[in-house]
Formats: sequence, structure tokens, C-alpha cells
Amino acid sequence: MEDKIKQIKEEFKEKIKNKSLKELKELEIYFLGRKGKVSILFQFFKTVPKERRKHFGAKINELKSFIEKGISTEIQRAESIEASRKLEEEKIDVTLPGIKLHTGGLHILSQTISRAEDIFLSMGFDVMVGPEIEEDYYNFEALNIPEFHPARAMQDTFYLSKKILLRTQTSPIQVRIMEKYKPPIRIIAMGRCYRKDAPDSSHFPVFHQIEGLVIDKKVTFANLKGTLSLFAKRMFGEEVKVRFTPSYFPFVEPGAETSISCVICGGKGCSVCKNTGWLEMGGSGMVHPNVLKNVGIDPEIYQGFAFGWGMERIAMVKHKIPDIRMFYQNDLRFLKQFKG
Ligand SMILES: [Zn+2]
Repeated sequence: MEDKIKQIKEEFKEKIKNKSLKELKELEIYFLGRKGKVSILFQFFKTVPKERRKHFGAKINELKSFIEKGISTEIQRAESIEASRKLEEEKIDVTLPGIKLHTGGLHILSQTISRAEDIFLSMGFDVMVGPEIEEDYYNFEALNIPEFHPARAMQDTFYLSKKILLRTQTSPIQVRIMEKYKPPIRIIAMGRCYRKDAPDSSHFPVFHQIEGLVIDKKVTFANLKGTLSLFAKRMFGEEVKVRFTPSYFPFVEPGAETSISCVICGGKGCSVCKNTGWLEMGGSGMVHPNVLKNVGIDPEIYQGFAFGWGMERIAMVKHKIPDIRMFYQNDLRFLKQFKG
């Protein structure tokens, strides 16, 4: 019996060395389980003479607690090894490249609009908006374009009813502002406009306009030239010149077509400017006295100037975009080039 106990103790000491957590659990069953080595000892115990039982009982219990203690110490050791192994395995290597997140960006048109707004805000203008569904009166009549006026044909639009339409220009915002506020007025009117144009490289049924309006005493054509020249320089670069060519628009007198010196060839002549050295940008002029009268401003006291450029045209010239339809096709290959 004594030998048996010794033998088991030796066996345990041998087997316990360098075991994994799983092996230790198995060892625990092997020694201490219901049919384990120690339990079997208790069966032998019955064969021991009565007077020796107390002695052997103590010996077996001693062995049992020796094994229990040994295993629990080893389990603790194995667990801490396991934990540090896991920690090592799951360590994050911060030098590895990260997962790239795809972020959106502002559309090139929105970026250009913001830029234009910033420039005019810095010159003391306020940015105004108005309804896209407009009354015939604000879109045409108040702007000196009565019914059957030929200028209406140039701006044919989408009618929702006989007198309600999608605005063809942002000028109705100007009329609404002049009705509401007394001069001095210094605003830009900005927003989406509509015309019944068949899409091609320079026309689209939807487009954006930026219009300026200044009304005050002693406003002259020189103020108009100065304002547009400064805007063009800030938008396209210091070397850009603005040219005014006499032209007709019903709501201004005198009126002028405005062009900027070609930003591609610097005015020497190229295919973009059709060898003229100039790029047409939009109309401008001194506000027609009839328009002022229509909104109750005395043209004998106040004068004003106005201009209207297309935002798509500005973005196309600035970024050398050849076709207006590209703005509206949502082609990521195009849009990504201008991700701000
Ligand atoms: Zn050119």
C-alpha cells in the first residue's frame, strides 16, 4: 500500500511537467476522477487491517491534496501562458496600412457655387434665393418682357399652368428683393433654372445661374465693370480680363455681353475660344428704368447694374470641362477628379 502511494506520487510528479491547460484537465480526471488512480486506492483501503486504516487514510488524503494543489498551481501557470499567447497573437500592428473608408465630397458645381458666393460675400454682397416654381409676372413681365415679346421664345420653359412656370433665370429673385427692400441693395441671386433646351455639349434643361444686382444713388457702368473684373480675377486668376460688348437684354439699358480672356490660351486664340481669344460668360447692364418703376423705385433718384452668369459655364471654363452634360451624369470617374 505504501509503495502504491509512492508510485502514484512519482507518476504524478513526472506527468505534471509542462502540460497544456487541456492536458492538465485530463490529468485531473486521470488521478482524481471517479475511476482515477487515487479513487482506486480507496478500494485497496478495504483490504488494509483495521489498525492500519487510520494511517493509510491520512496518507491517501495527503496524496490527494498534494495532487489537487499541484494541478491547480499548474492550471494557473498554463492559464497565464495562454493569456499572454493570445495577447501576442491578437496584437495590432499599427504600421500596417489601414482599411480605406470611402468618403463623399462636394460636387464640382457645389464647390464652384460656394467659391462664387465667398467672392461676392467678401465684396459686401448678400446671397439671396427664391422659388424655382415661379409666377409668369416675376419671371417675365416685371422684367420688361411682356407677353408675345420675342425674348420669351429664347427662354422657352416648362409651364405648370398658364401663369405658373419653372423659372428660366434667377432674375425673379431680384424683382422680389426690390419689392421687399428699399435701396441701397447689393445682392447676388443664386440657384437652379430651367429652359426647354435639347441637351447638347453646352445646353441642358437644368442649369444654375448667378446674378448680381446693385441699386443705389450714383451707380455707374464703371461700378459694374469693376465688380465683374474683380470677380473674374478672383475666380479665374489675376491675369484674366473682362470685355463688355454692346448687346440687347430687355431688362437693362444699356446692355452688354460679358466675356473673359480665354483662360486656356491667354487670349492668343485656340479651339476652345474658337480663335477669338475670348469666352462669353453672360449678360450685364444698367437696370432698365421700367424695371425700377415696376417695383416702385424712382429711376430719377436710383440707378443700378445687374449681371447674370451661368455657374456651369464658370465651372467648365475654370476646370476645362468640355461638356455640360458631365455635371449631371453622376459618373464617378468624372466626379472623383474634383473631390475636394
Ligand atoms: Zn483660347
